[in-house]
Amino acid sequence: LDPEGLPAPDRPRVTLDDVGGLEQVKARLDAAFLAPLRNPELRAYYGKSLRGGLLLYGPPGCGKTFLARAVAGELGASFFALGLNDVLDMWLGESERRLHDAFASARRAAPCVLFLDELDALGQKRSQMRHSAGRNVVNQLLAELDGAQADNEGVFVLAATNHPWDVDTALRRPGRLDRTVLVLPPDLPARETIFRKALAGRPIRGVDTVKLARRTDGCSGADIVHIVESASELALQESVRTGAMHPITQGQLDQAASETAPSTRAW
Ligand code: ATP
Repeated sequence: LDPEGLPAPDRPRVTLDDVGGLEQVKARLDAAFLAPLRNPELRAYYGKSLRGGLLLYGPPGCGKTFLARAVAGELGASFFALGLNDVLDMWLGESERRLHDAFASARRAAPCVLFLDELDALGQKRSQMRHSAGRNVVNQLLAELDGAQADNEGVFVLAATNHPWDVDTALRRPGRLDRTVLVLPPDLPARETIFRKALAGRPIRGVDTVKLARRTDGCSGADIVHIVESASELALQESVRTGAMHPITQGQLDQAASETAPSTRAW
């Protein structure tokens, strides 16, 4: 924990290349954050500031958090994460202070990425809010995003939600989270890539990742990582049982896939 009691920021080592698929999303993140930071002359020439916010939305487990960490990884920058549900669960007044402290820490660490997860928690109607001070928290966030008291230069705010229609419209105005990017479930080639990345470095035999990609329509990236983990567990059990080290087989991956319900269908 840092002196303000906030979780210490981490320095992700993942890059956009580690994220499977989502080529257009990666291009937009590059244009919004990476290119301006890497090209100071062009930035000065076009008068582009180094601040700004972007809202990632889409079904769970499809890479929103992963993308935000990868942006920080690309920049060699610190990554601060704040879940808005946790912030709203705090005592009256504490929520606003936590938000303020998170932005203050991020400004000191700039350039950095500040990731605001579960943004829709702030947009729910007052009556549904877990405490009526929700509006104060929204106002605090608006003030922080506007840099009312301090400059946000070099603070890249990435927010995420599964329910964009619940996000308070005031948060989406220009200068705030004014760009939205849809993060869709992985298509066939992306699923194949995610399988290959998840299996890299593990012992495998006779594994056909194209076949696996075909049978996992509707699975999120998180589902695919789960399938690979489950198959690894089956192989490990097999090795314990037989006393020999067995590679992961297609059969074990197929079994794990059949036991994993595709989680993006309902979205
Ligand atoms: P939520 O809305 O539930 O917060 P999310 O969209 O933020 O979900 P992540 O936390 O980024 O999802 O994804 C969970 C894990 O799934 C990642 O840590 C990663 O291992 C894997 N994953 C998801 N999408 C991808 C992808 N496109 N490429 C590679 N791995 C992925």
